[in-house]
Amino acid sequence: MERVINFSAGPSALPEAVLRKAQSEMLSYGSSGMSVMEMSHRSKDYMAIIEAAEANLRELMNIPANYKVLFLQGGASMQFAMVPLNLMNKNKKADYVNTGVWSKKAIKEAGRCGKVNVVASSEDKTFSYIPDLDPSTFDKEADHFHITTNNTIYGTRYTSIPDTGNVPLVADMSSDILSKPYDVSKFGLIFAGAQKNLGPAGVCIVIIREDLAGNQMEFTPTMLNYQVQIENGSMFNTPPTYGIYLCKLVLDWLKDQGGVEAIEKVNNEKASILYDFLDNSNLFKRTVAPKDRSIMNVPFVTGSVEKDDAFIKAATAKGLVQLKGHRSVGGMRASIYNAMTLEGVQKLVDFMKQFETDNG
Ligand SMILES: *Cc1c(COP(=O)(O)O)cnc(C)c1O
Repeated sequence: MERVINFSAGPSALPEAVLRKAQSEMLSYGSSGMSVMEMSHRSKDYMAIIEAAEANLRELMNIPANYKVLFLQGGASMQFAMVPLNLMNKNKKADYVNTGVWSKKAIKEAGRCGKVNVVASSEDKTFSYIPDLDPSTFDKEADHFHITTNNTIYGTRYTSIPDTGNVPLVADMSSDILSKPYDVSKFGLIFAGAQKNLGPAGVCIVIIREDLAGNQMEFTPTMLNYQVQIENGSMFNTPPTYGIYLCKLVLDWLKDQGGVEAIEKVNNEKASILYDFLDNSNLFKRTVAPKDRSIMNVPFVTGSVEKDDAFIKAATAKGLVQLKGHRSVGGMRASIYNAMTLEGVQKLVDFMKQFETDNG
């Protein structure tokens, strides 16, 4: 069976080289005589894997020494609760920007811990843009300020990171971590579920400025306490060992591609091919304000539900799969994370041109 071109929003395509490497090491990792899945997480072999994963991430993102890297479970969604449990314990209030479903879920969890001030929202236009932020509306006493850097469902992204002064900026970077350079020192905490740009589902990466840990609410469950996770090197209990190993392989692969700056160039090129086509198409329309459009998730519509369905069906038959938009917005969405090749995007656009000619 030939591999398809997979535009899934997540879990999403992994680099083929990574899957082959994992395949080659499946039955015996190095000279261990066992699969990584069968290893003690405290064994020498495994410690080397998790340490290399962290070292790779530190190198690729240029993470300053006063930040800790954690490999946790529970996905990005668990961070929606873990962040306020640990950070919202000084003044019991936080600022949030509402840019869609994921922000809303984060706002809901923070609301259990204190007062949430929604400083801006783009809900009025189905989250098709990033709202302007007015710093005079920011609360200087907020315990943290939360943004979603890339909005996976709608295909929007911040083009500049808000300056929140002394208030720690928290970023849900699940769908654009490692797609372009970010200055980690501008953030108090970054988290990302791995299944978009980093590896398989089941691992969540947290990058936290060390002074922000240790101030959790009294009733915080042990597993949700950043300080405990830091003190135990992400091994308070058994970590998702195989998932972390795959993340390590993806990070090795990204280094082989030339790192984050190099992959950003490819990502920009991929996105341009699609957007240039959409901007000039007579059939397909983009749905996002041009200034805010994502280079990772590209939603589009024909304007007719029947034509959308026909397009998705015909594309699937050609091996261009998982193009259906999120159930809350409909239409189509092409997710073109780091692992998506330029050729894959070109094939999609060629197919869209053909479909337009046949059905325009
Ligand atoms: C996918 C996604 C999530 C949810 O991730 P889980 O790991 O499933 O909890 C949260 N935020 C963003 C931006 C996402 O893309």
